[in-house]
Amino acid sequence: MIGIIAAMDVEMNSLRSYMENTETEVISGIRFVRGSLEGKDVVTAVCGIGKVFAALCAQTMILHYQPQCIINTGVAGTLTDALTIGSIAVSSAVVQHDMDTSALGDPVGLISGINKVELPADRLLSGQLSACAKVMGVKTATGVIASGDQFVASQERKAFIVEHFKAIACEMEGAAIGQVCHVNKVPFCVLRAISDSADGSSHMDYPTFVKMAAEQSVNLLRRFMRC
Ligand code: SAH
Repeated sequence: MIGIIAAMDVEMNSLRSYMENTETEVISGIRFVRGSLEGKDVVTAVCGIGKVFAALCAQTMILHYQPQCIINTGVAGTLTDALTIGSIAVSSAVVQHDMDTSALGDPVGLISGINKVELPADRLLSGQLSACAKVMGVKTATGVIASGDQFVASQERKAFIVEHFKAIACEMEGAAIGQVCHVNKVPFCVLRAISDSADGSSHMDYPTFVKMAAEQSVNLLRRFMRC
């Protein structure tokens, strides 16, 4: 069974409309919908915004459904000219850009205990997702995806994340899901369609494009399930 987590309804509702033979269970306030998508067994969840909800959801999904892997899907801000609105970012690794114990001499973003900054995504999953995007003719890039508990909307913060992590996209859940998967030895990947510029240059980007971008990720996931 493949686990699929999105943060918001707008990123999940249409995907769920393609599922068959669904069964629903609510655990810890999260609705898990299990069923078949393009003939594959999946369990889906909308975790809510931010790293805490994302971690809670991933751990619960792993304990209750034992998915063979987890894909975090949705939208993100771009950190590179290579990804414009509607393009797809696929994670090679995830980082937490707001994890910072550098005052104690640690590298910015170090996850103490695991003692790593970057947590690698599953190479096979990343490769398959990016291959699907290419087949669909969607512009895509694979690289580090950065998560933090803030909506990135300034040149300064964007530059900070690029400088420290060389990340290609920013969002608020992927690295929390990645950390939970890493600890539980469950392969994971983050797949995000670009909804905004992450620099505040056009405040209208996100509300205008979130739905279209979310749909782009859904189309890619459906295609992936058929492979
Ligand atoms: N109160 C709003 C919050 C949305 S936050 C709501 O409940 O709808 C934005 C979401 O989109 C997060 O889940 C995040 O992962 C993603 N996202 C898109 N662009 C982003 C950006 N520039 N910075 C951080 N997260 C972004």
